[in-house]
Amino acid sequence: MTMGHSRPTSQVYFISAAGSDPADELAAKAKKVYLATGFNERIAEGDFAALKIHFGEAGNAGYIKPAWLARLIWEVRTRTKHAFLTDSNTLYVGNRSNSIDHLRLAWSHGFTPEATGLPVIIADGLIGRDKQEPRSAQARTASSKIASAILDSDAFIGLTHVTGHVQTGLGAAIKNMGMGCASRAGKLDQHSVTHPRVNAKQCRNCSVCMTFCPEAAIIQAEGHVVIDSARCIGCGECLVVCKQGAIKMKWDEDSLRLQEKMAEYAFRVLSHFKDKAVFLNFLIHVTKDCDCMAKNQKPIAADIGILASVDPVAIDQATADLLIARAGGKDPLRAGYDIDWAGQLAHGEKIGLGTRKYALVEVA
Ligand code: SF4
Ligand code: SF4
Repeated sequence: MTMGHSRPTSQVYFISAAGSDPADELAAKAKKVYLATGFNERIAEGDFAALKIHFGEAGNAGYIKPAWLARLIWEVRTRTKHAFLTDSNTLYVGNRSNSIDHLRLAWSHGFTPEATGLPVIIADGLIGRDKQEPRSAQARTASSKIASAILDSDAFIGLTHVTGHVQTGLGAAIKNMGMGCASRAGKLDQHSVTHPRVNAKQCRNCSVCMTFCPEAAIIQAEGHVVIDSARCIGCGECLVVCKQGAIKMKWDEDSLRLQEKMAEYAFRVLSHFKDKAVFLNFLIHVTKDCDCMAKNQKPIAADIGILASVDPVAIDQATADLLIARAGGKDPLRAGYDIDWAGQLAHGEKIGLGTRKYALVEVA
């Protein structure tokens, strides 16, 4: 894919599939639609290939099952021995906010080296502080804080379980790359324009956050600490290191701004991989909320299949179009949250992340 100037129509490959298909049949379909993109041939021997996925929060059942990826992974492994499954730590306190809990959760959902043949590497380190910061002039962000292991890799395979989303309306390839590859500070950067605050009742006054704050913005009060908002630069370090969960953010970024920031983050990740990135969107068990929800959710659409493309904008546009078409013209995403999810696509296209013009190629 050429970046940064007017682009032709992108190919989006599609194969019909449902969650009720036998796992091996789904694995064969995922492999078929993946190979149709021609991407596998671009992986060179010795490449570090990052298979970016969401392992699903504890209690969630919507995530892509490891068995569905078995054949695709085998294909990747014929090209390089250095492939790995990966995700980054979450900002919210759950079972994926540090690498130890995150790994245990991935294993409990079947993503073990024995089952998949791949190690799991949490891309932003033990507590989400390992990041690199590529810069480029964009409208909403000057830089992106991206999990180090992602940008240390040579090839990127975005494996996305498509869902609705409480803040972005649509969670698909752009979100998996833009938000999903951001370190915890990068997620904070996208999510909020305000500075963190300390909940005095939860603070144990251990001073750990003071040690980590790069701006000396955390000061002692009576029996707890407080943040001096005049000094705070909103880097999120304190939020990451507080083991008590005493530092909170105000989640007030409006959806359009958030979607645009996310697209800019995705652009900087794609700029690193250039033509060595591919995206698979699984339109199976599409739910109102993302897989960060620690509960099983009812689907909001019938299962459709698996899409694959080297263009993250085209695949997300095709994803939304298919969801709407199969629902008889009514948008199932907007039935969940009335959010205009198209902002991420429009901004993505504007900044050269991809094109909304696509040709759907059915793979038999
Ligand atoms: S790290 Fe958390 S508990 Fe410790 S002083 Fe800071 S806010 Fe309070
Ligand atoms: S967000 Fe960063 S600058 Fe602000 S108080 Fe926390 S550590 Fe300090």
